[in-house]
Amino acid sequence: MAECVLVIGGGGREHALAWKLAQSPHVKQVLVAPGNAGTADCGKIRNSEVSVTNHAILAQFCKDHNVGLVVVGPEVPLAAGMVDDLTAAGVACFGPSARAAQLEASKSFSKAFMDRHGIPTARWGSFTDPQLACDYIRTASFPALVVKASGLAAGKGVIVAANQDEACAAVKDIMKEKAFGSAGETVVVEELLEGEEVSCLCFSDGSSVAPMPPAQDHKRLQDGDLGPNTGGMGAYCPTPQVSQELLEQIKVKVLQKTIDGMKAEGAPYIGVLYAGLMLTKDGLRVLEFNCRFGDPECQVLMPLLKGDLYEVLLHTLDGTLASHAPVWHQESSAVTVVMASAGYPGTYEKGVQITGLSQVEAMDVQVFHAGTALKAGGMTSSGGRVLTVTAVRPSLEEALQAANQGVAAVVFPGAVYRRDIGHHAIAYLGQRRGLTYKD
Ligand code: AMP
Repeated sequence: MAECVLVIGGGGREHALAWKLAQSPHVKQVLVAPGNAGTADCGKIRNSEVSVTNHAILAQFCKDHNVGLVVVGPEVPLAAGMVDDLTAAGVACFGPSARAAQLEASKSFSKAFMDRHGIPTARWGSFTDPQLACDYIRTASFPALVVKASGLAAGKGVIVAANQDEACAAVKDIMKEKAFGSAGETVVVEELLEGEEVSCLCFSDGSSVAPMPPAQDHKRLQDGDLGPNTGGMGAYCPTPQVSQELLEQIKVKVLQKTIDGMKAEGAPYIGVLYAGLMLTKDGLRVLEFNCRFGDPECQVLMPLLKGDLYEVLLHTLDGTLASHAPVWHQESSAVTVVMASAGYPGTYEKGVQITGLSQVEAMDVQVFHAGTALKAGGMTSSGGRVLTVTAVRPSLEEALQAANQGVAAVVFPGAVYRRDIGHHAIAYLGQRRGLTYKD
């Protein structure tokens, strides 16, 4: 039995990972660094104050506390080489190496990689000179209206422009005004794609891939996909818009090709690979790769994983995934609704008291914490995205209803949240049922 598993991070994703790991009979304790109020002291789970930036201190901590496995939630420590450093120090660590994490950490690397390996993606150009970027926007034979900071920008470095002037202004903002700091020293300018956006994740041991059920995030703040972009306001899984046949195509044309390409380039990819895809009328296109679970996708994937996450992670690490494919609850749907602070994604309030959570959990709904803290007076908000409320039910509609009822029972003044998570799928299913009925 592993003495202990350490999860790195402090969001809803990490709470969901810790929650699932704690269900494993192999796991005695789950530490989360830095964690949040939900992971502070909950059964096998508790928080740790160990440094997550000094990898030498972290490695020593793992040895001193019999940490048998480290699971890295966010992209920043992966790009900073946490897996490389801990592995070199003899500590088992789940996630891609810094070289492999380039698939997310450098959009210009990832676009060139996709071209080298024939992976379908939007047409693009990469620039370190703002004038050349603007010339490209003005002369491309397709709408080159998406401007991206190449580096890591906490999911905020993408501007979808309405016209060429706006796109050029975005280049200026990113490159001259340094809106996303050094992440914007290189920009990628991309063709604007239209269609249904889905998240297809897989585990990979460096050779084989085990796809997870497809999910869909909701980036915009308000119902109807209106308002500003956010880190994600909710997700559901599976997405009926992605048939088994399409998922197989995604596996072959995107996920496996990426893993094979990384291996061929001498940077084998071991961990969770997340492909953000647009299903366009001309076929599927990769919008981006992430080198870890999505947040909030993780909060719908973990409750649908039937097997033992700890075992899946070990098979991924020791190269035996092909003979130990993870098993998922096929007969259920999961919905997660994010509750954010008033003002998010702009300047938001902190320190707002939150109550009612035990009533919510009695409704067979799971609350995963993100920006929460424990203060003398009780639990308060401490971040932009504060909580995610997840329900698993036999159908998407039932899961949405249960998650919405859970949200309504949380007492969190001023909370911002959506009520229409899964609306694309509900419309799609309605249409399909309608067609079947007419037949
Ligand atoms: P990314 O971080 O690259 O996934 O971009 C963030 C969001 O911007 C995506 O989730 C899409 O909604 C949008 N986006 C990115 N690239 C494109 C594109 N080429 N066409 C249309 N929308 C895009």
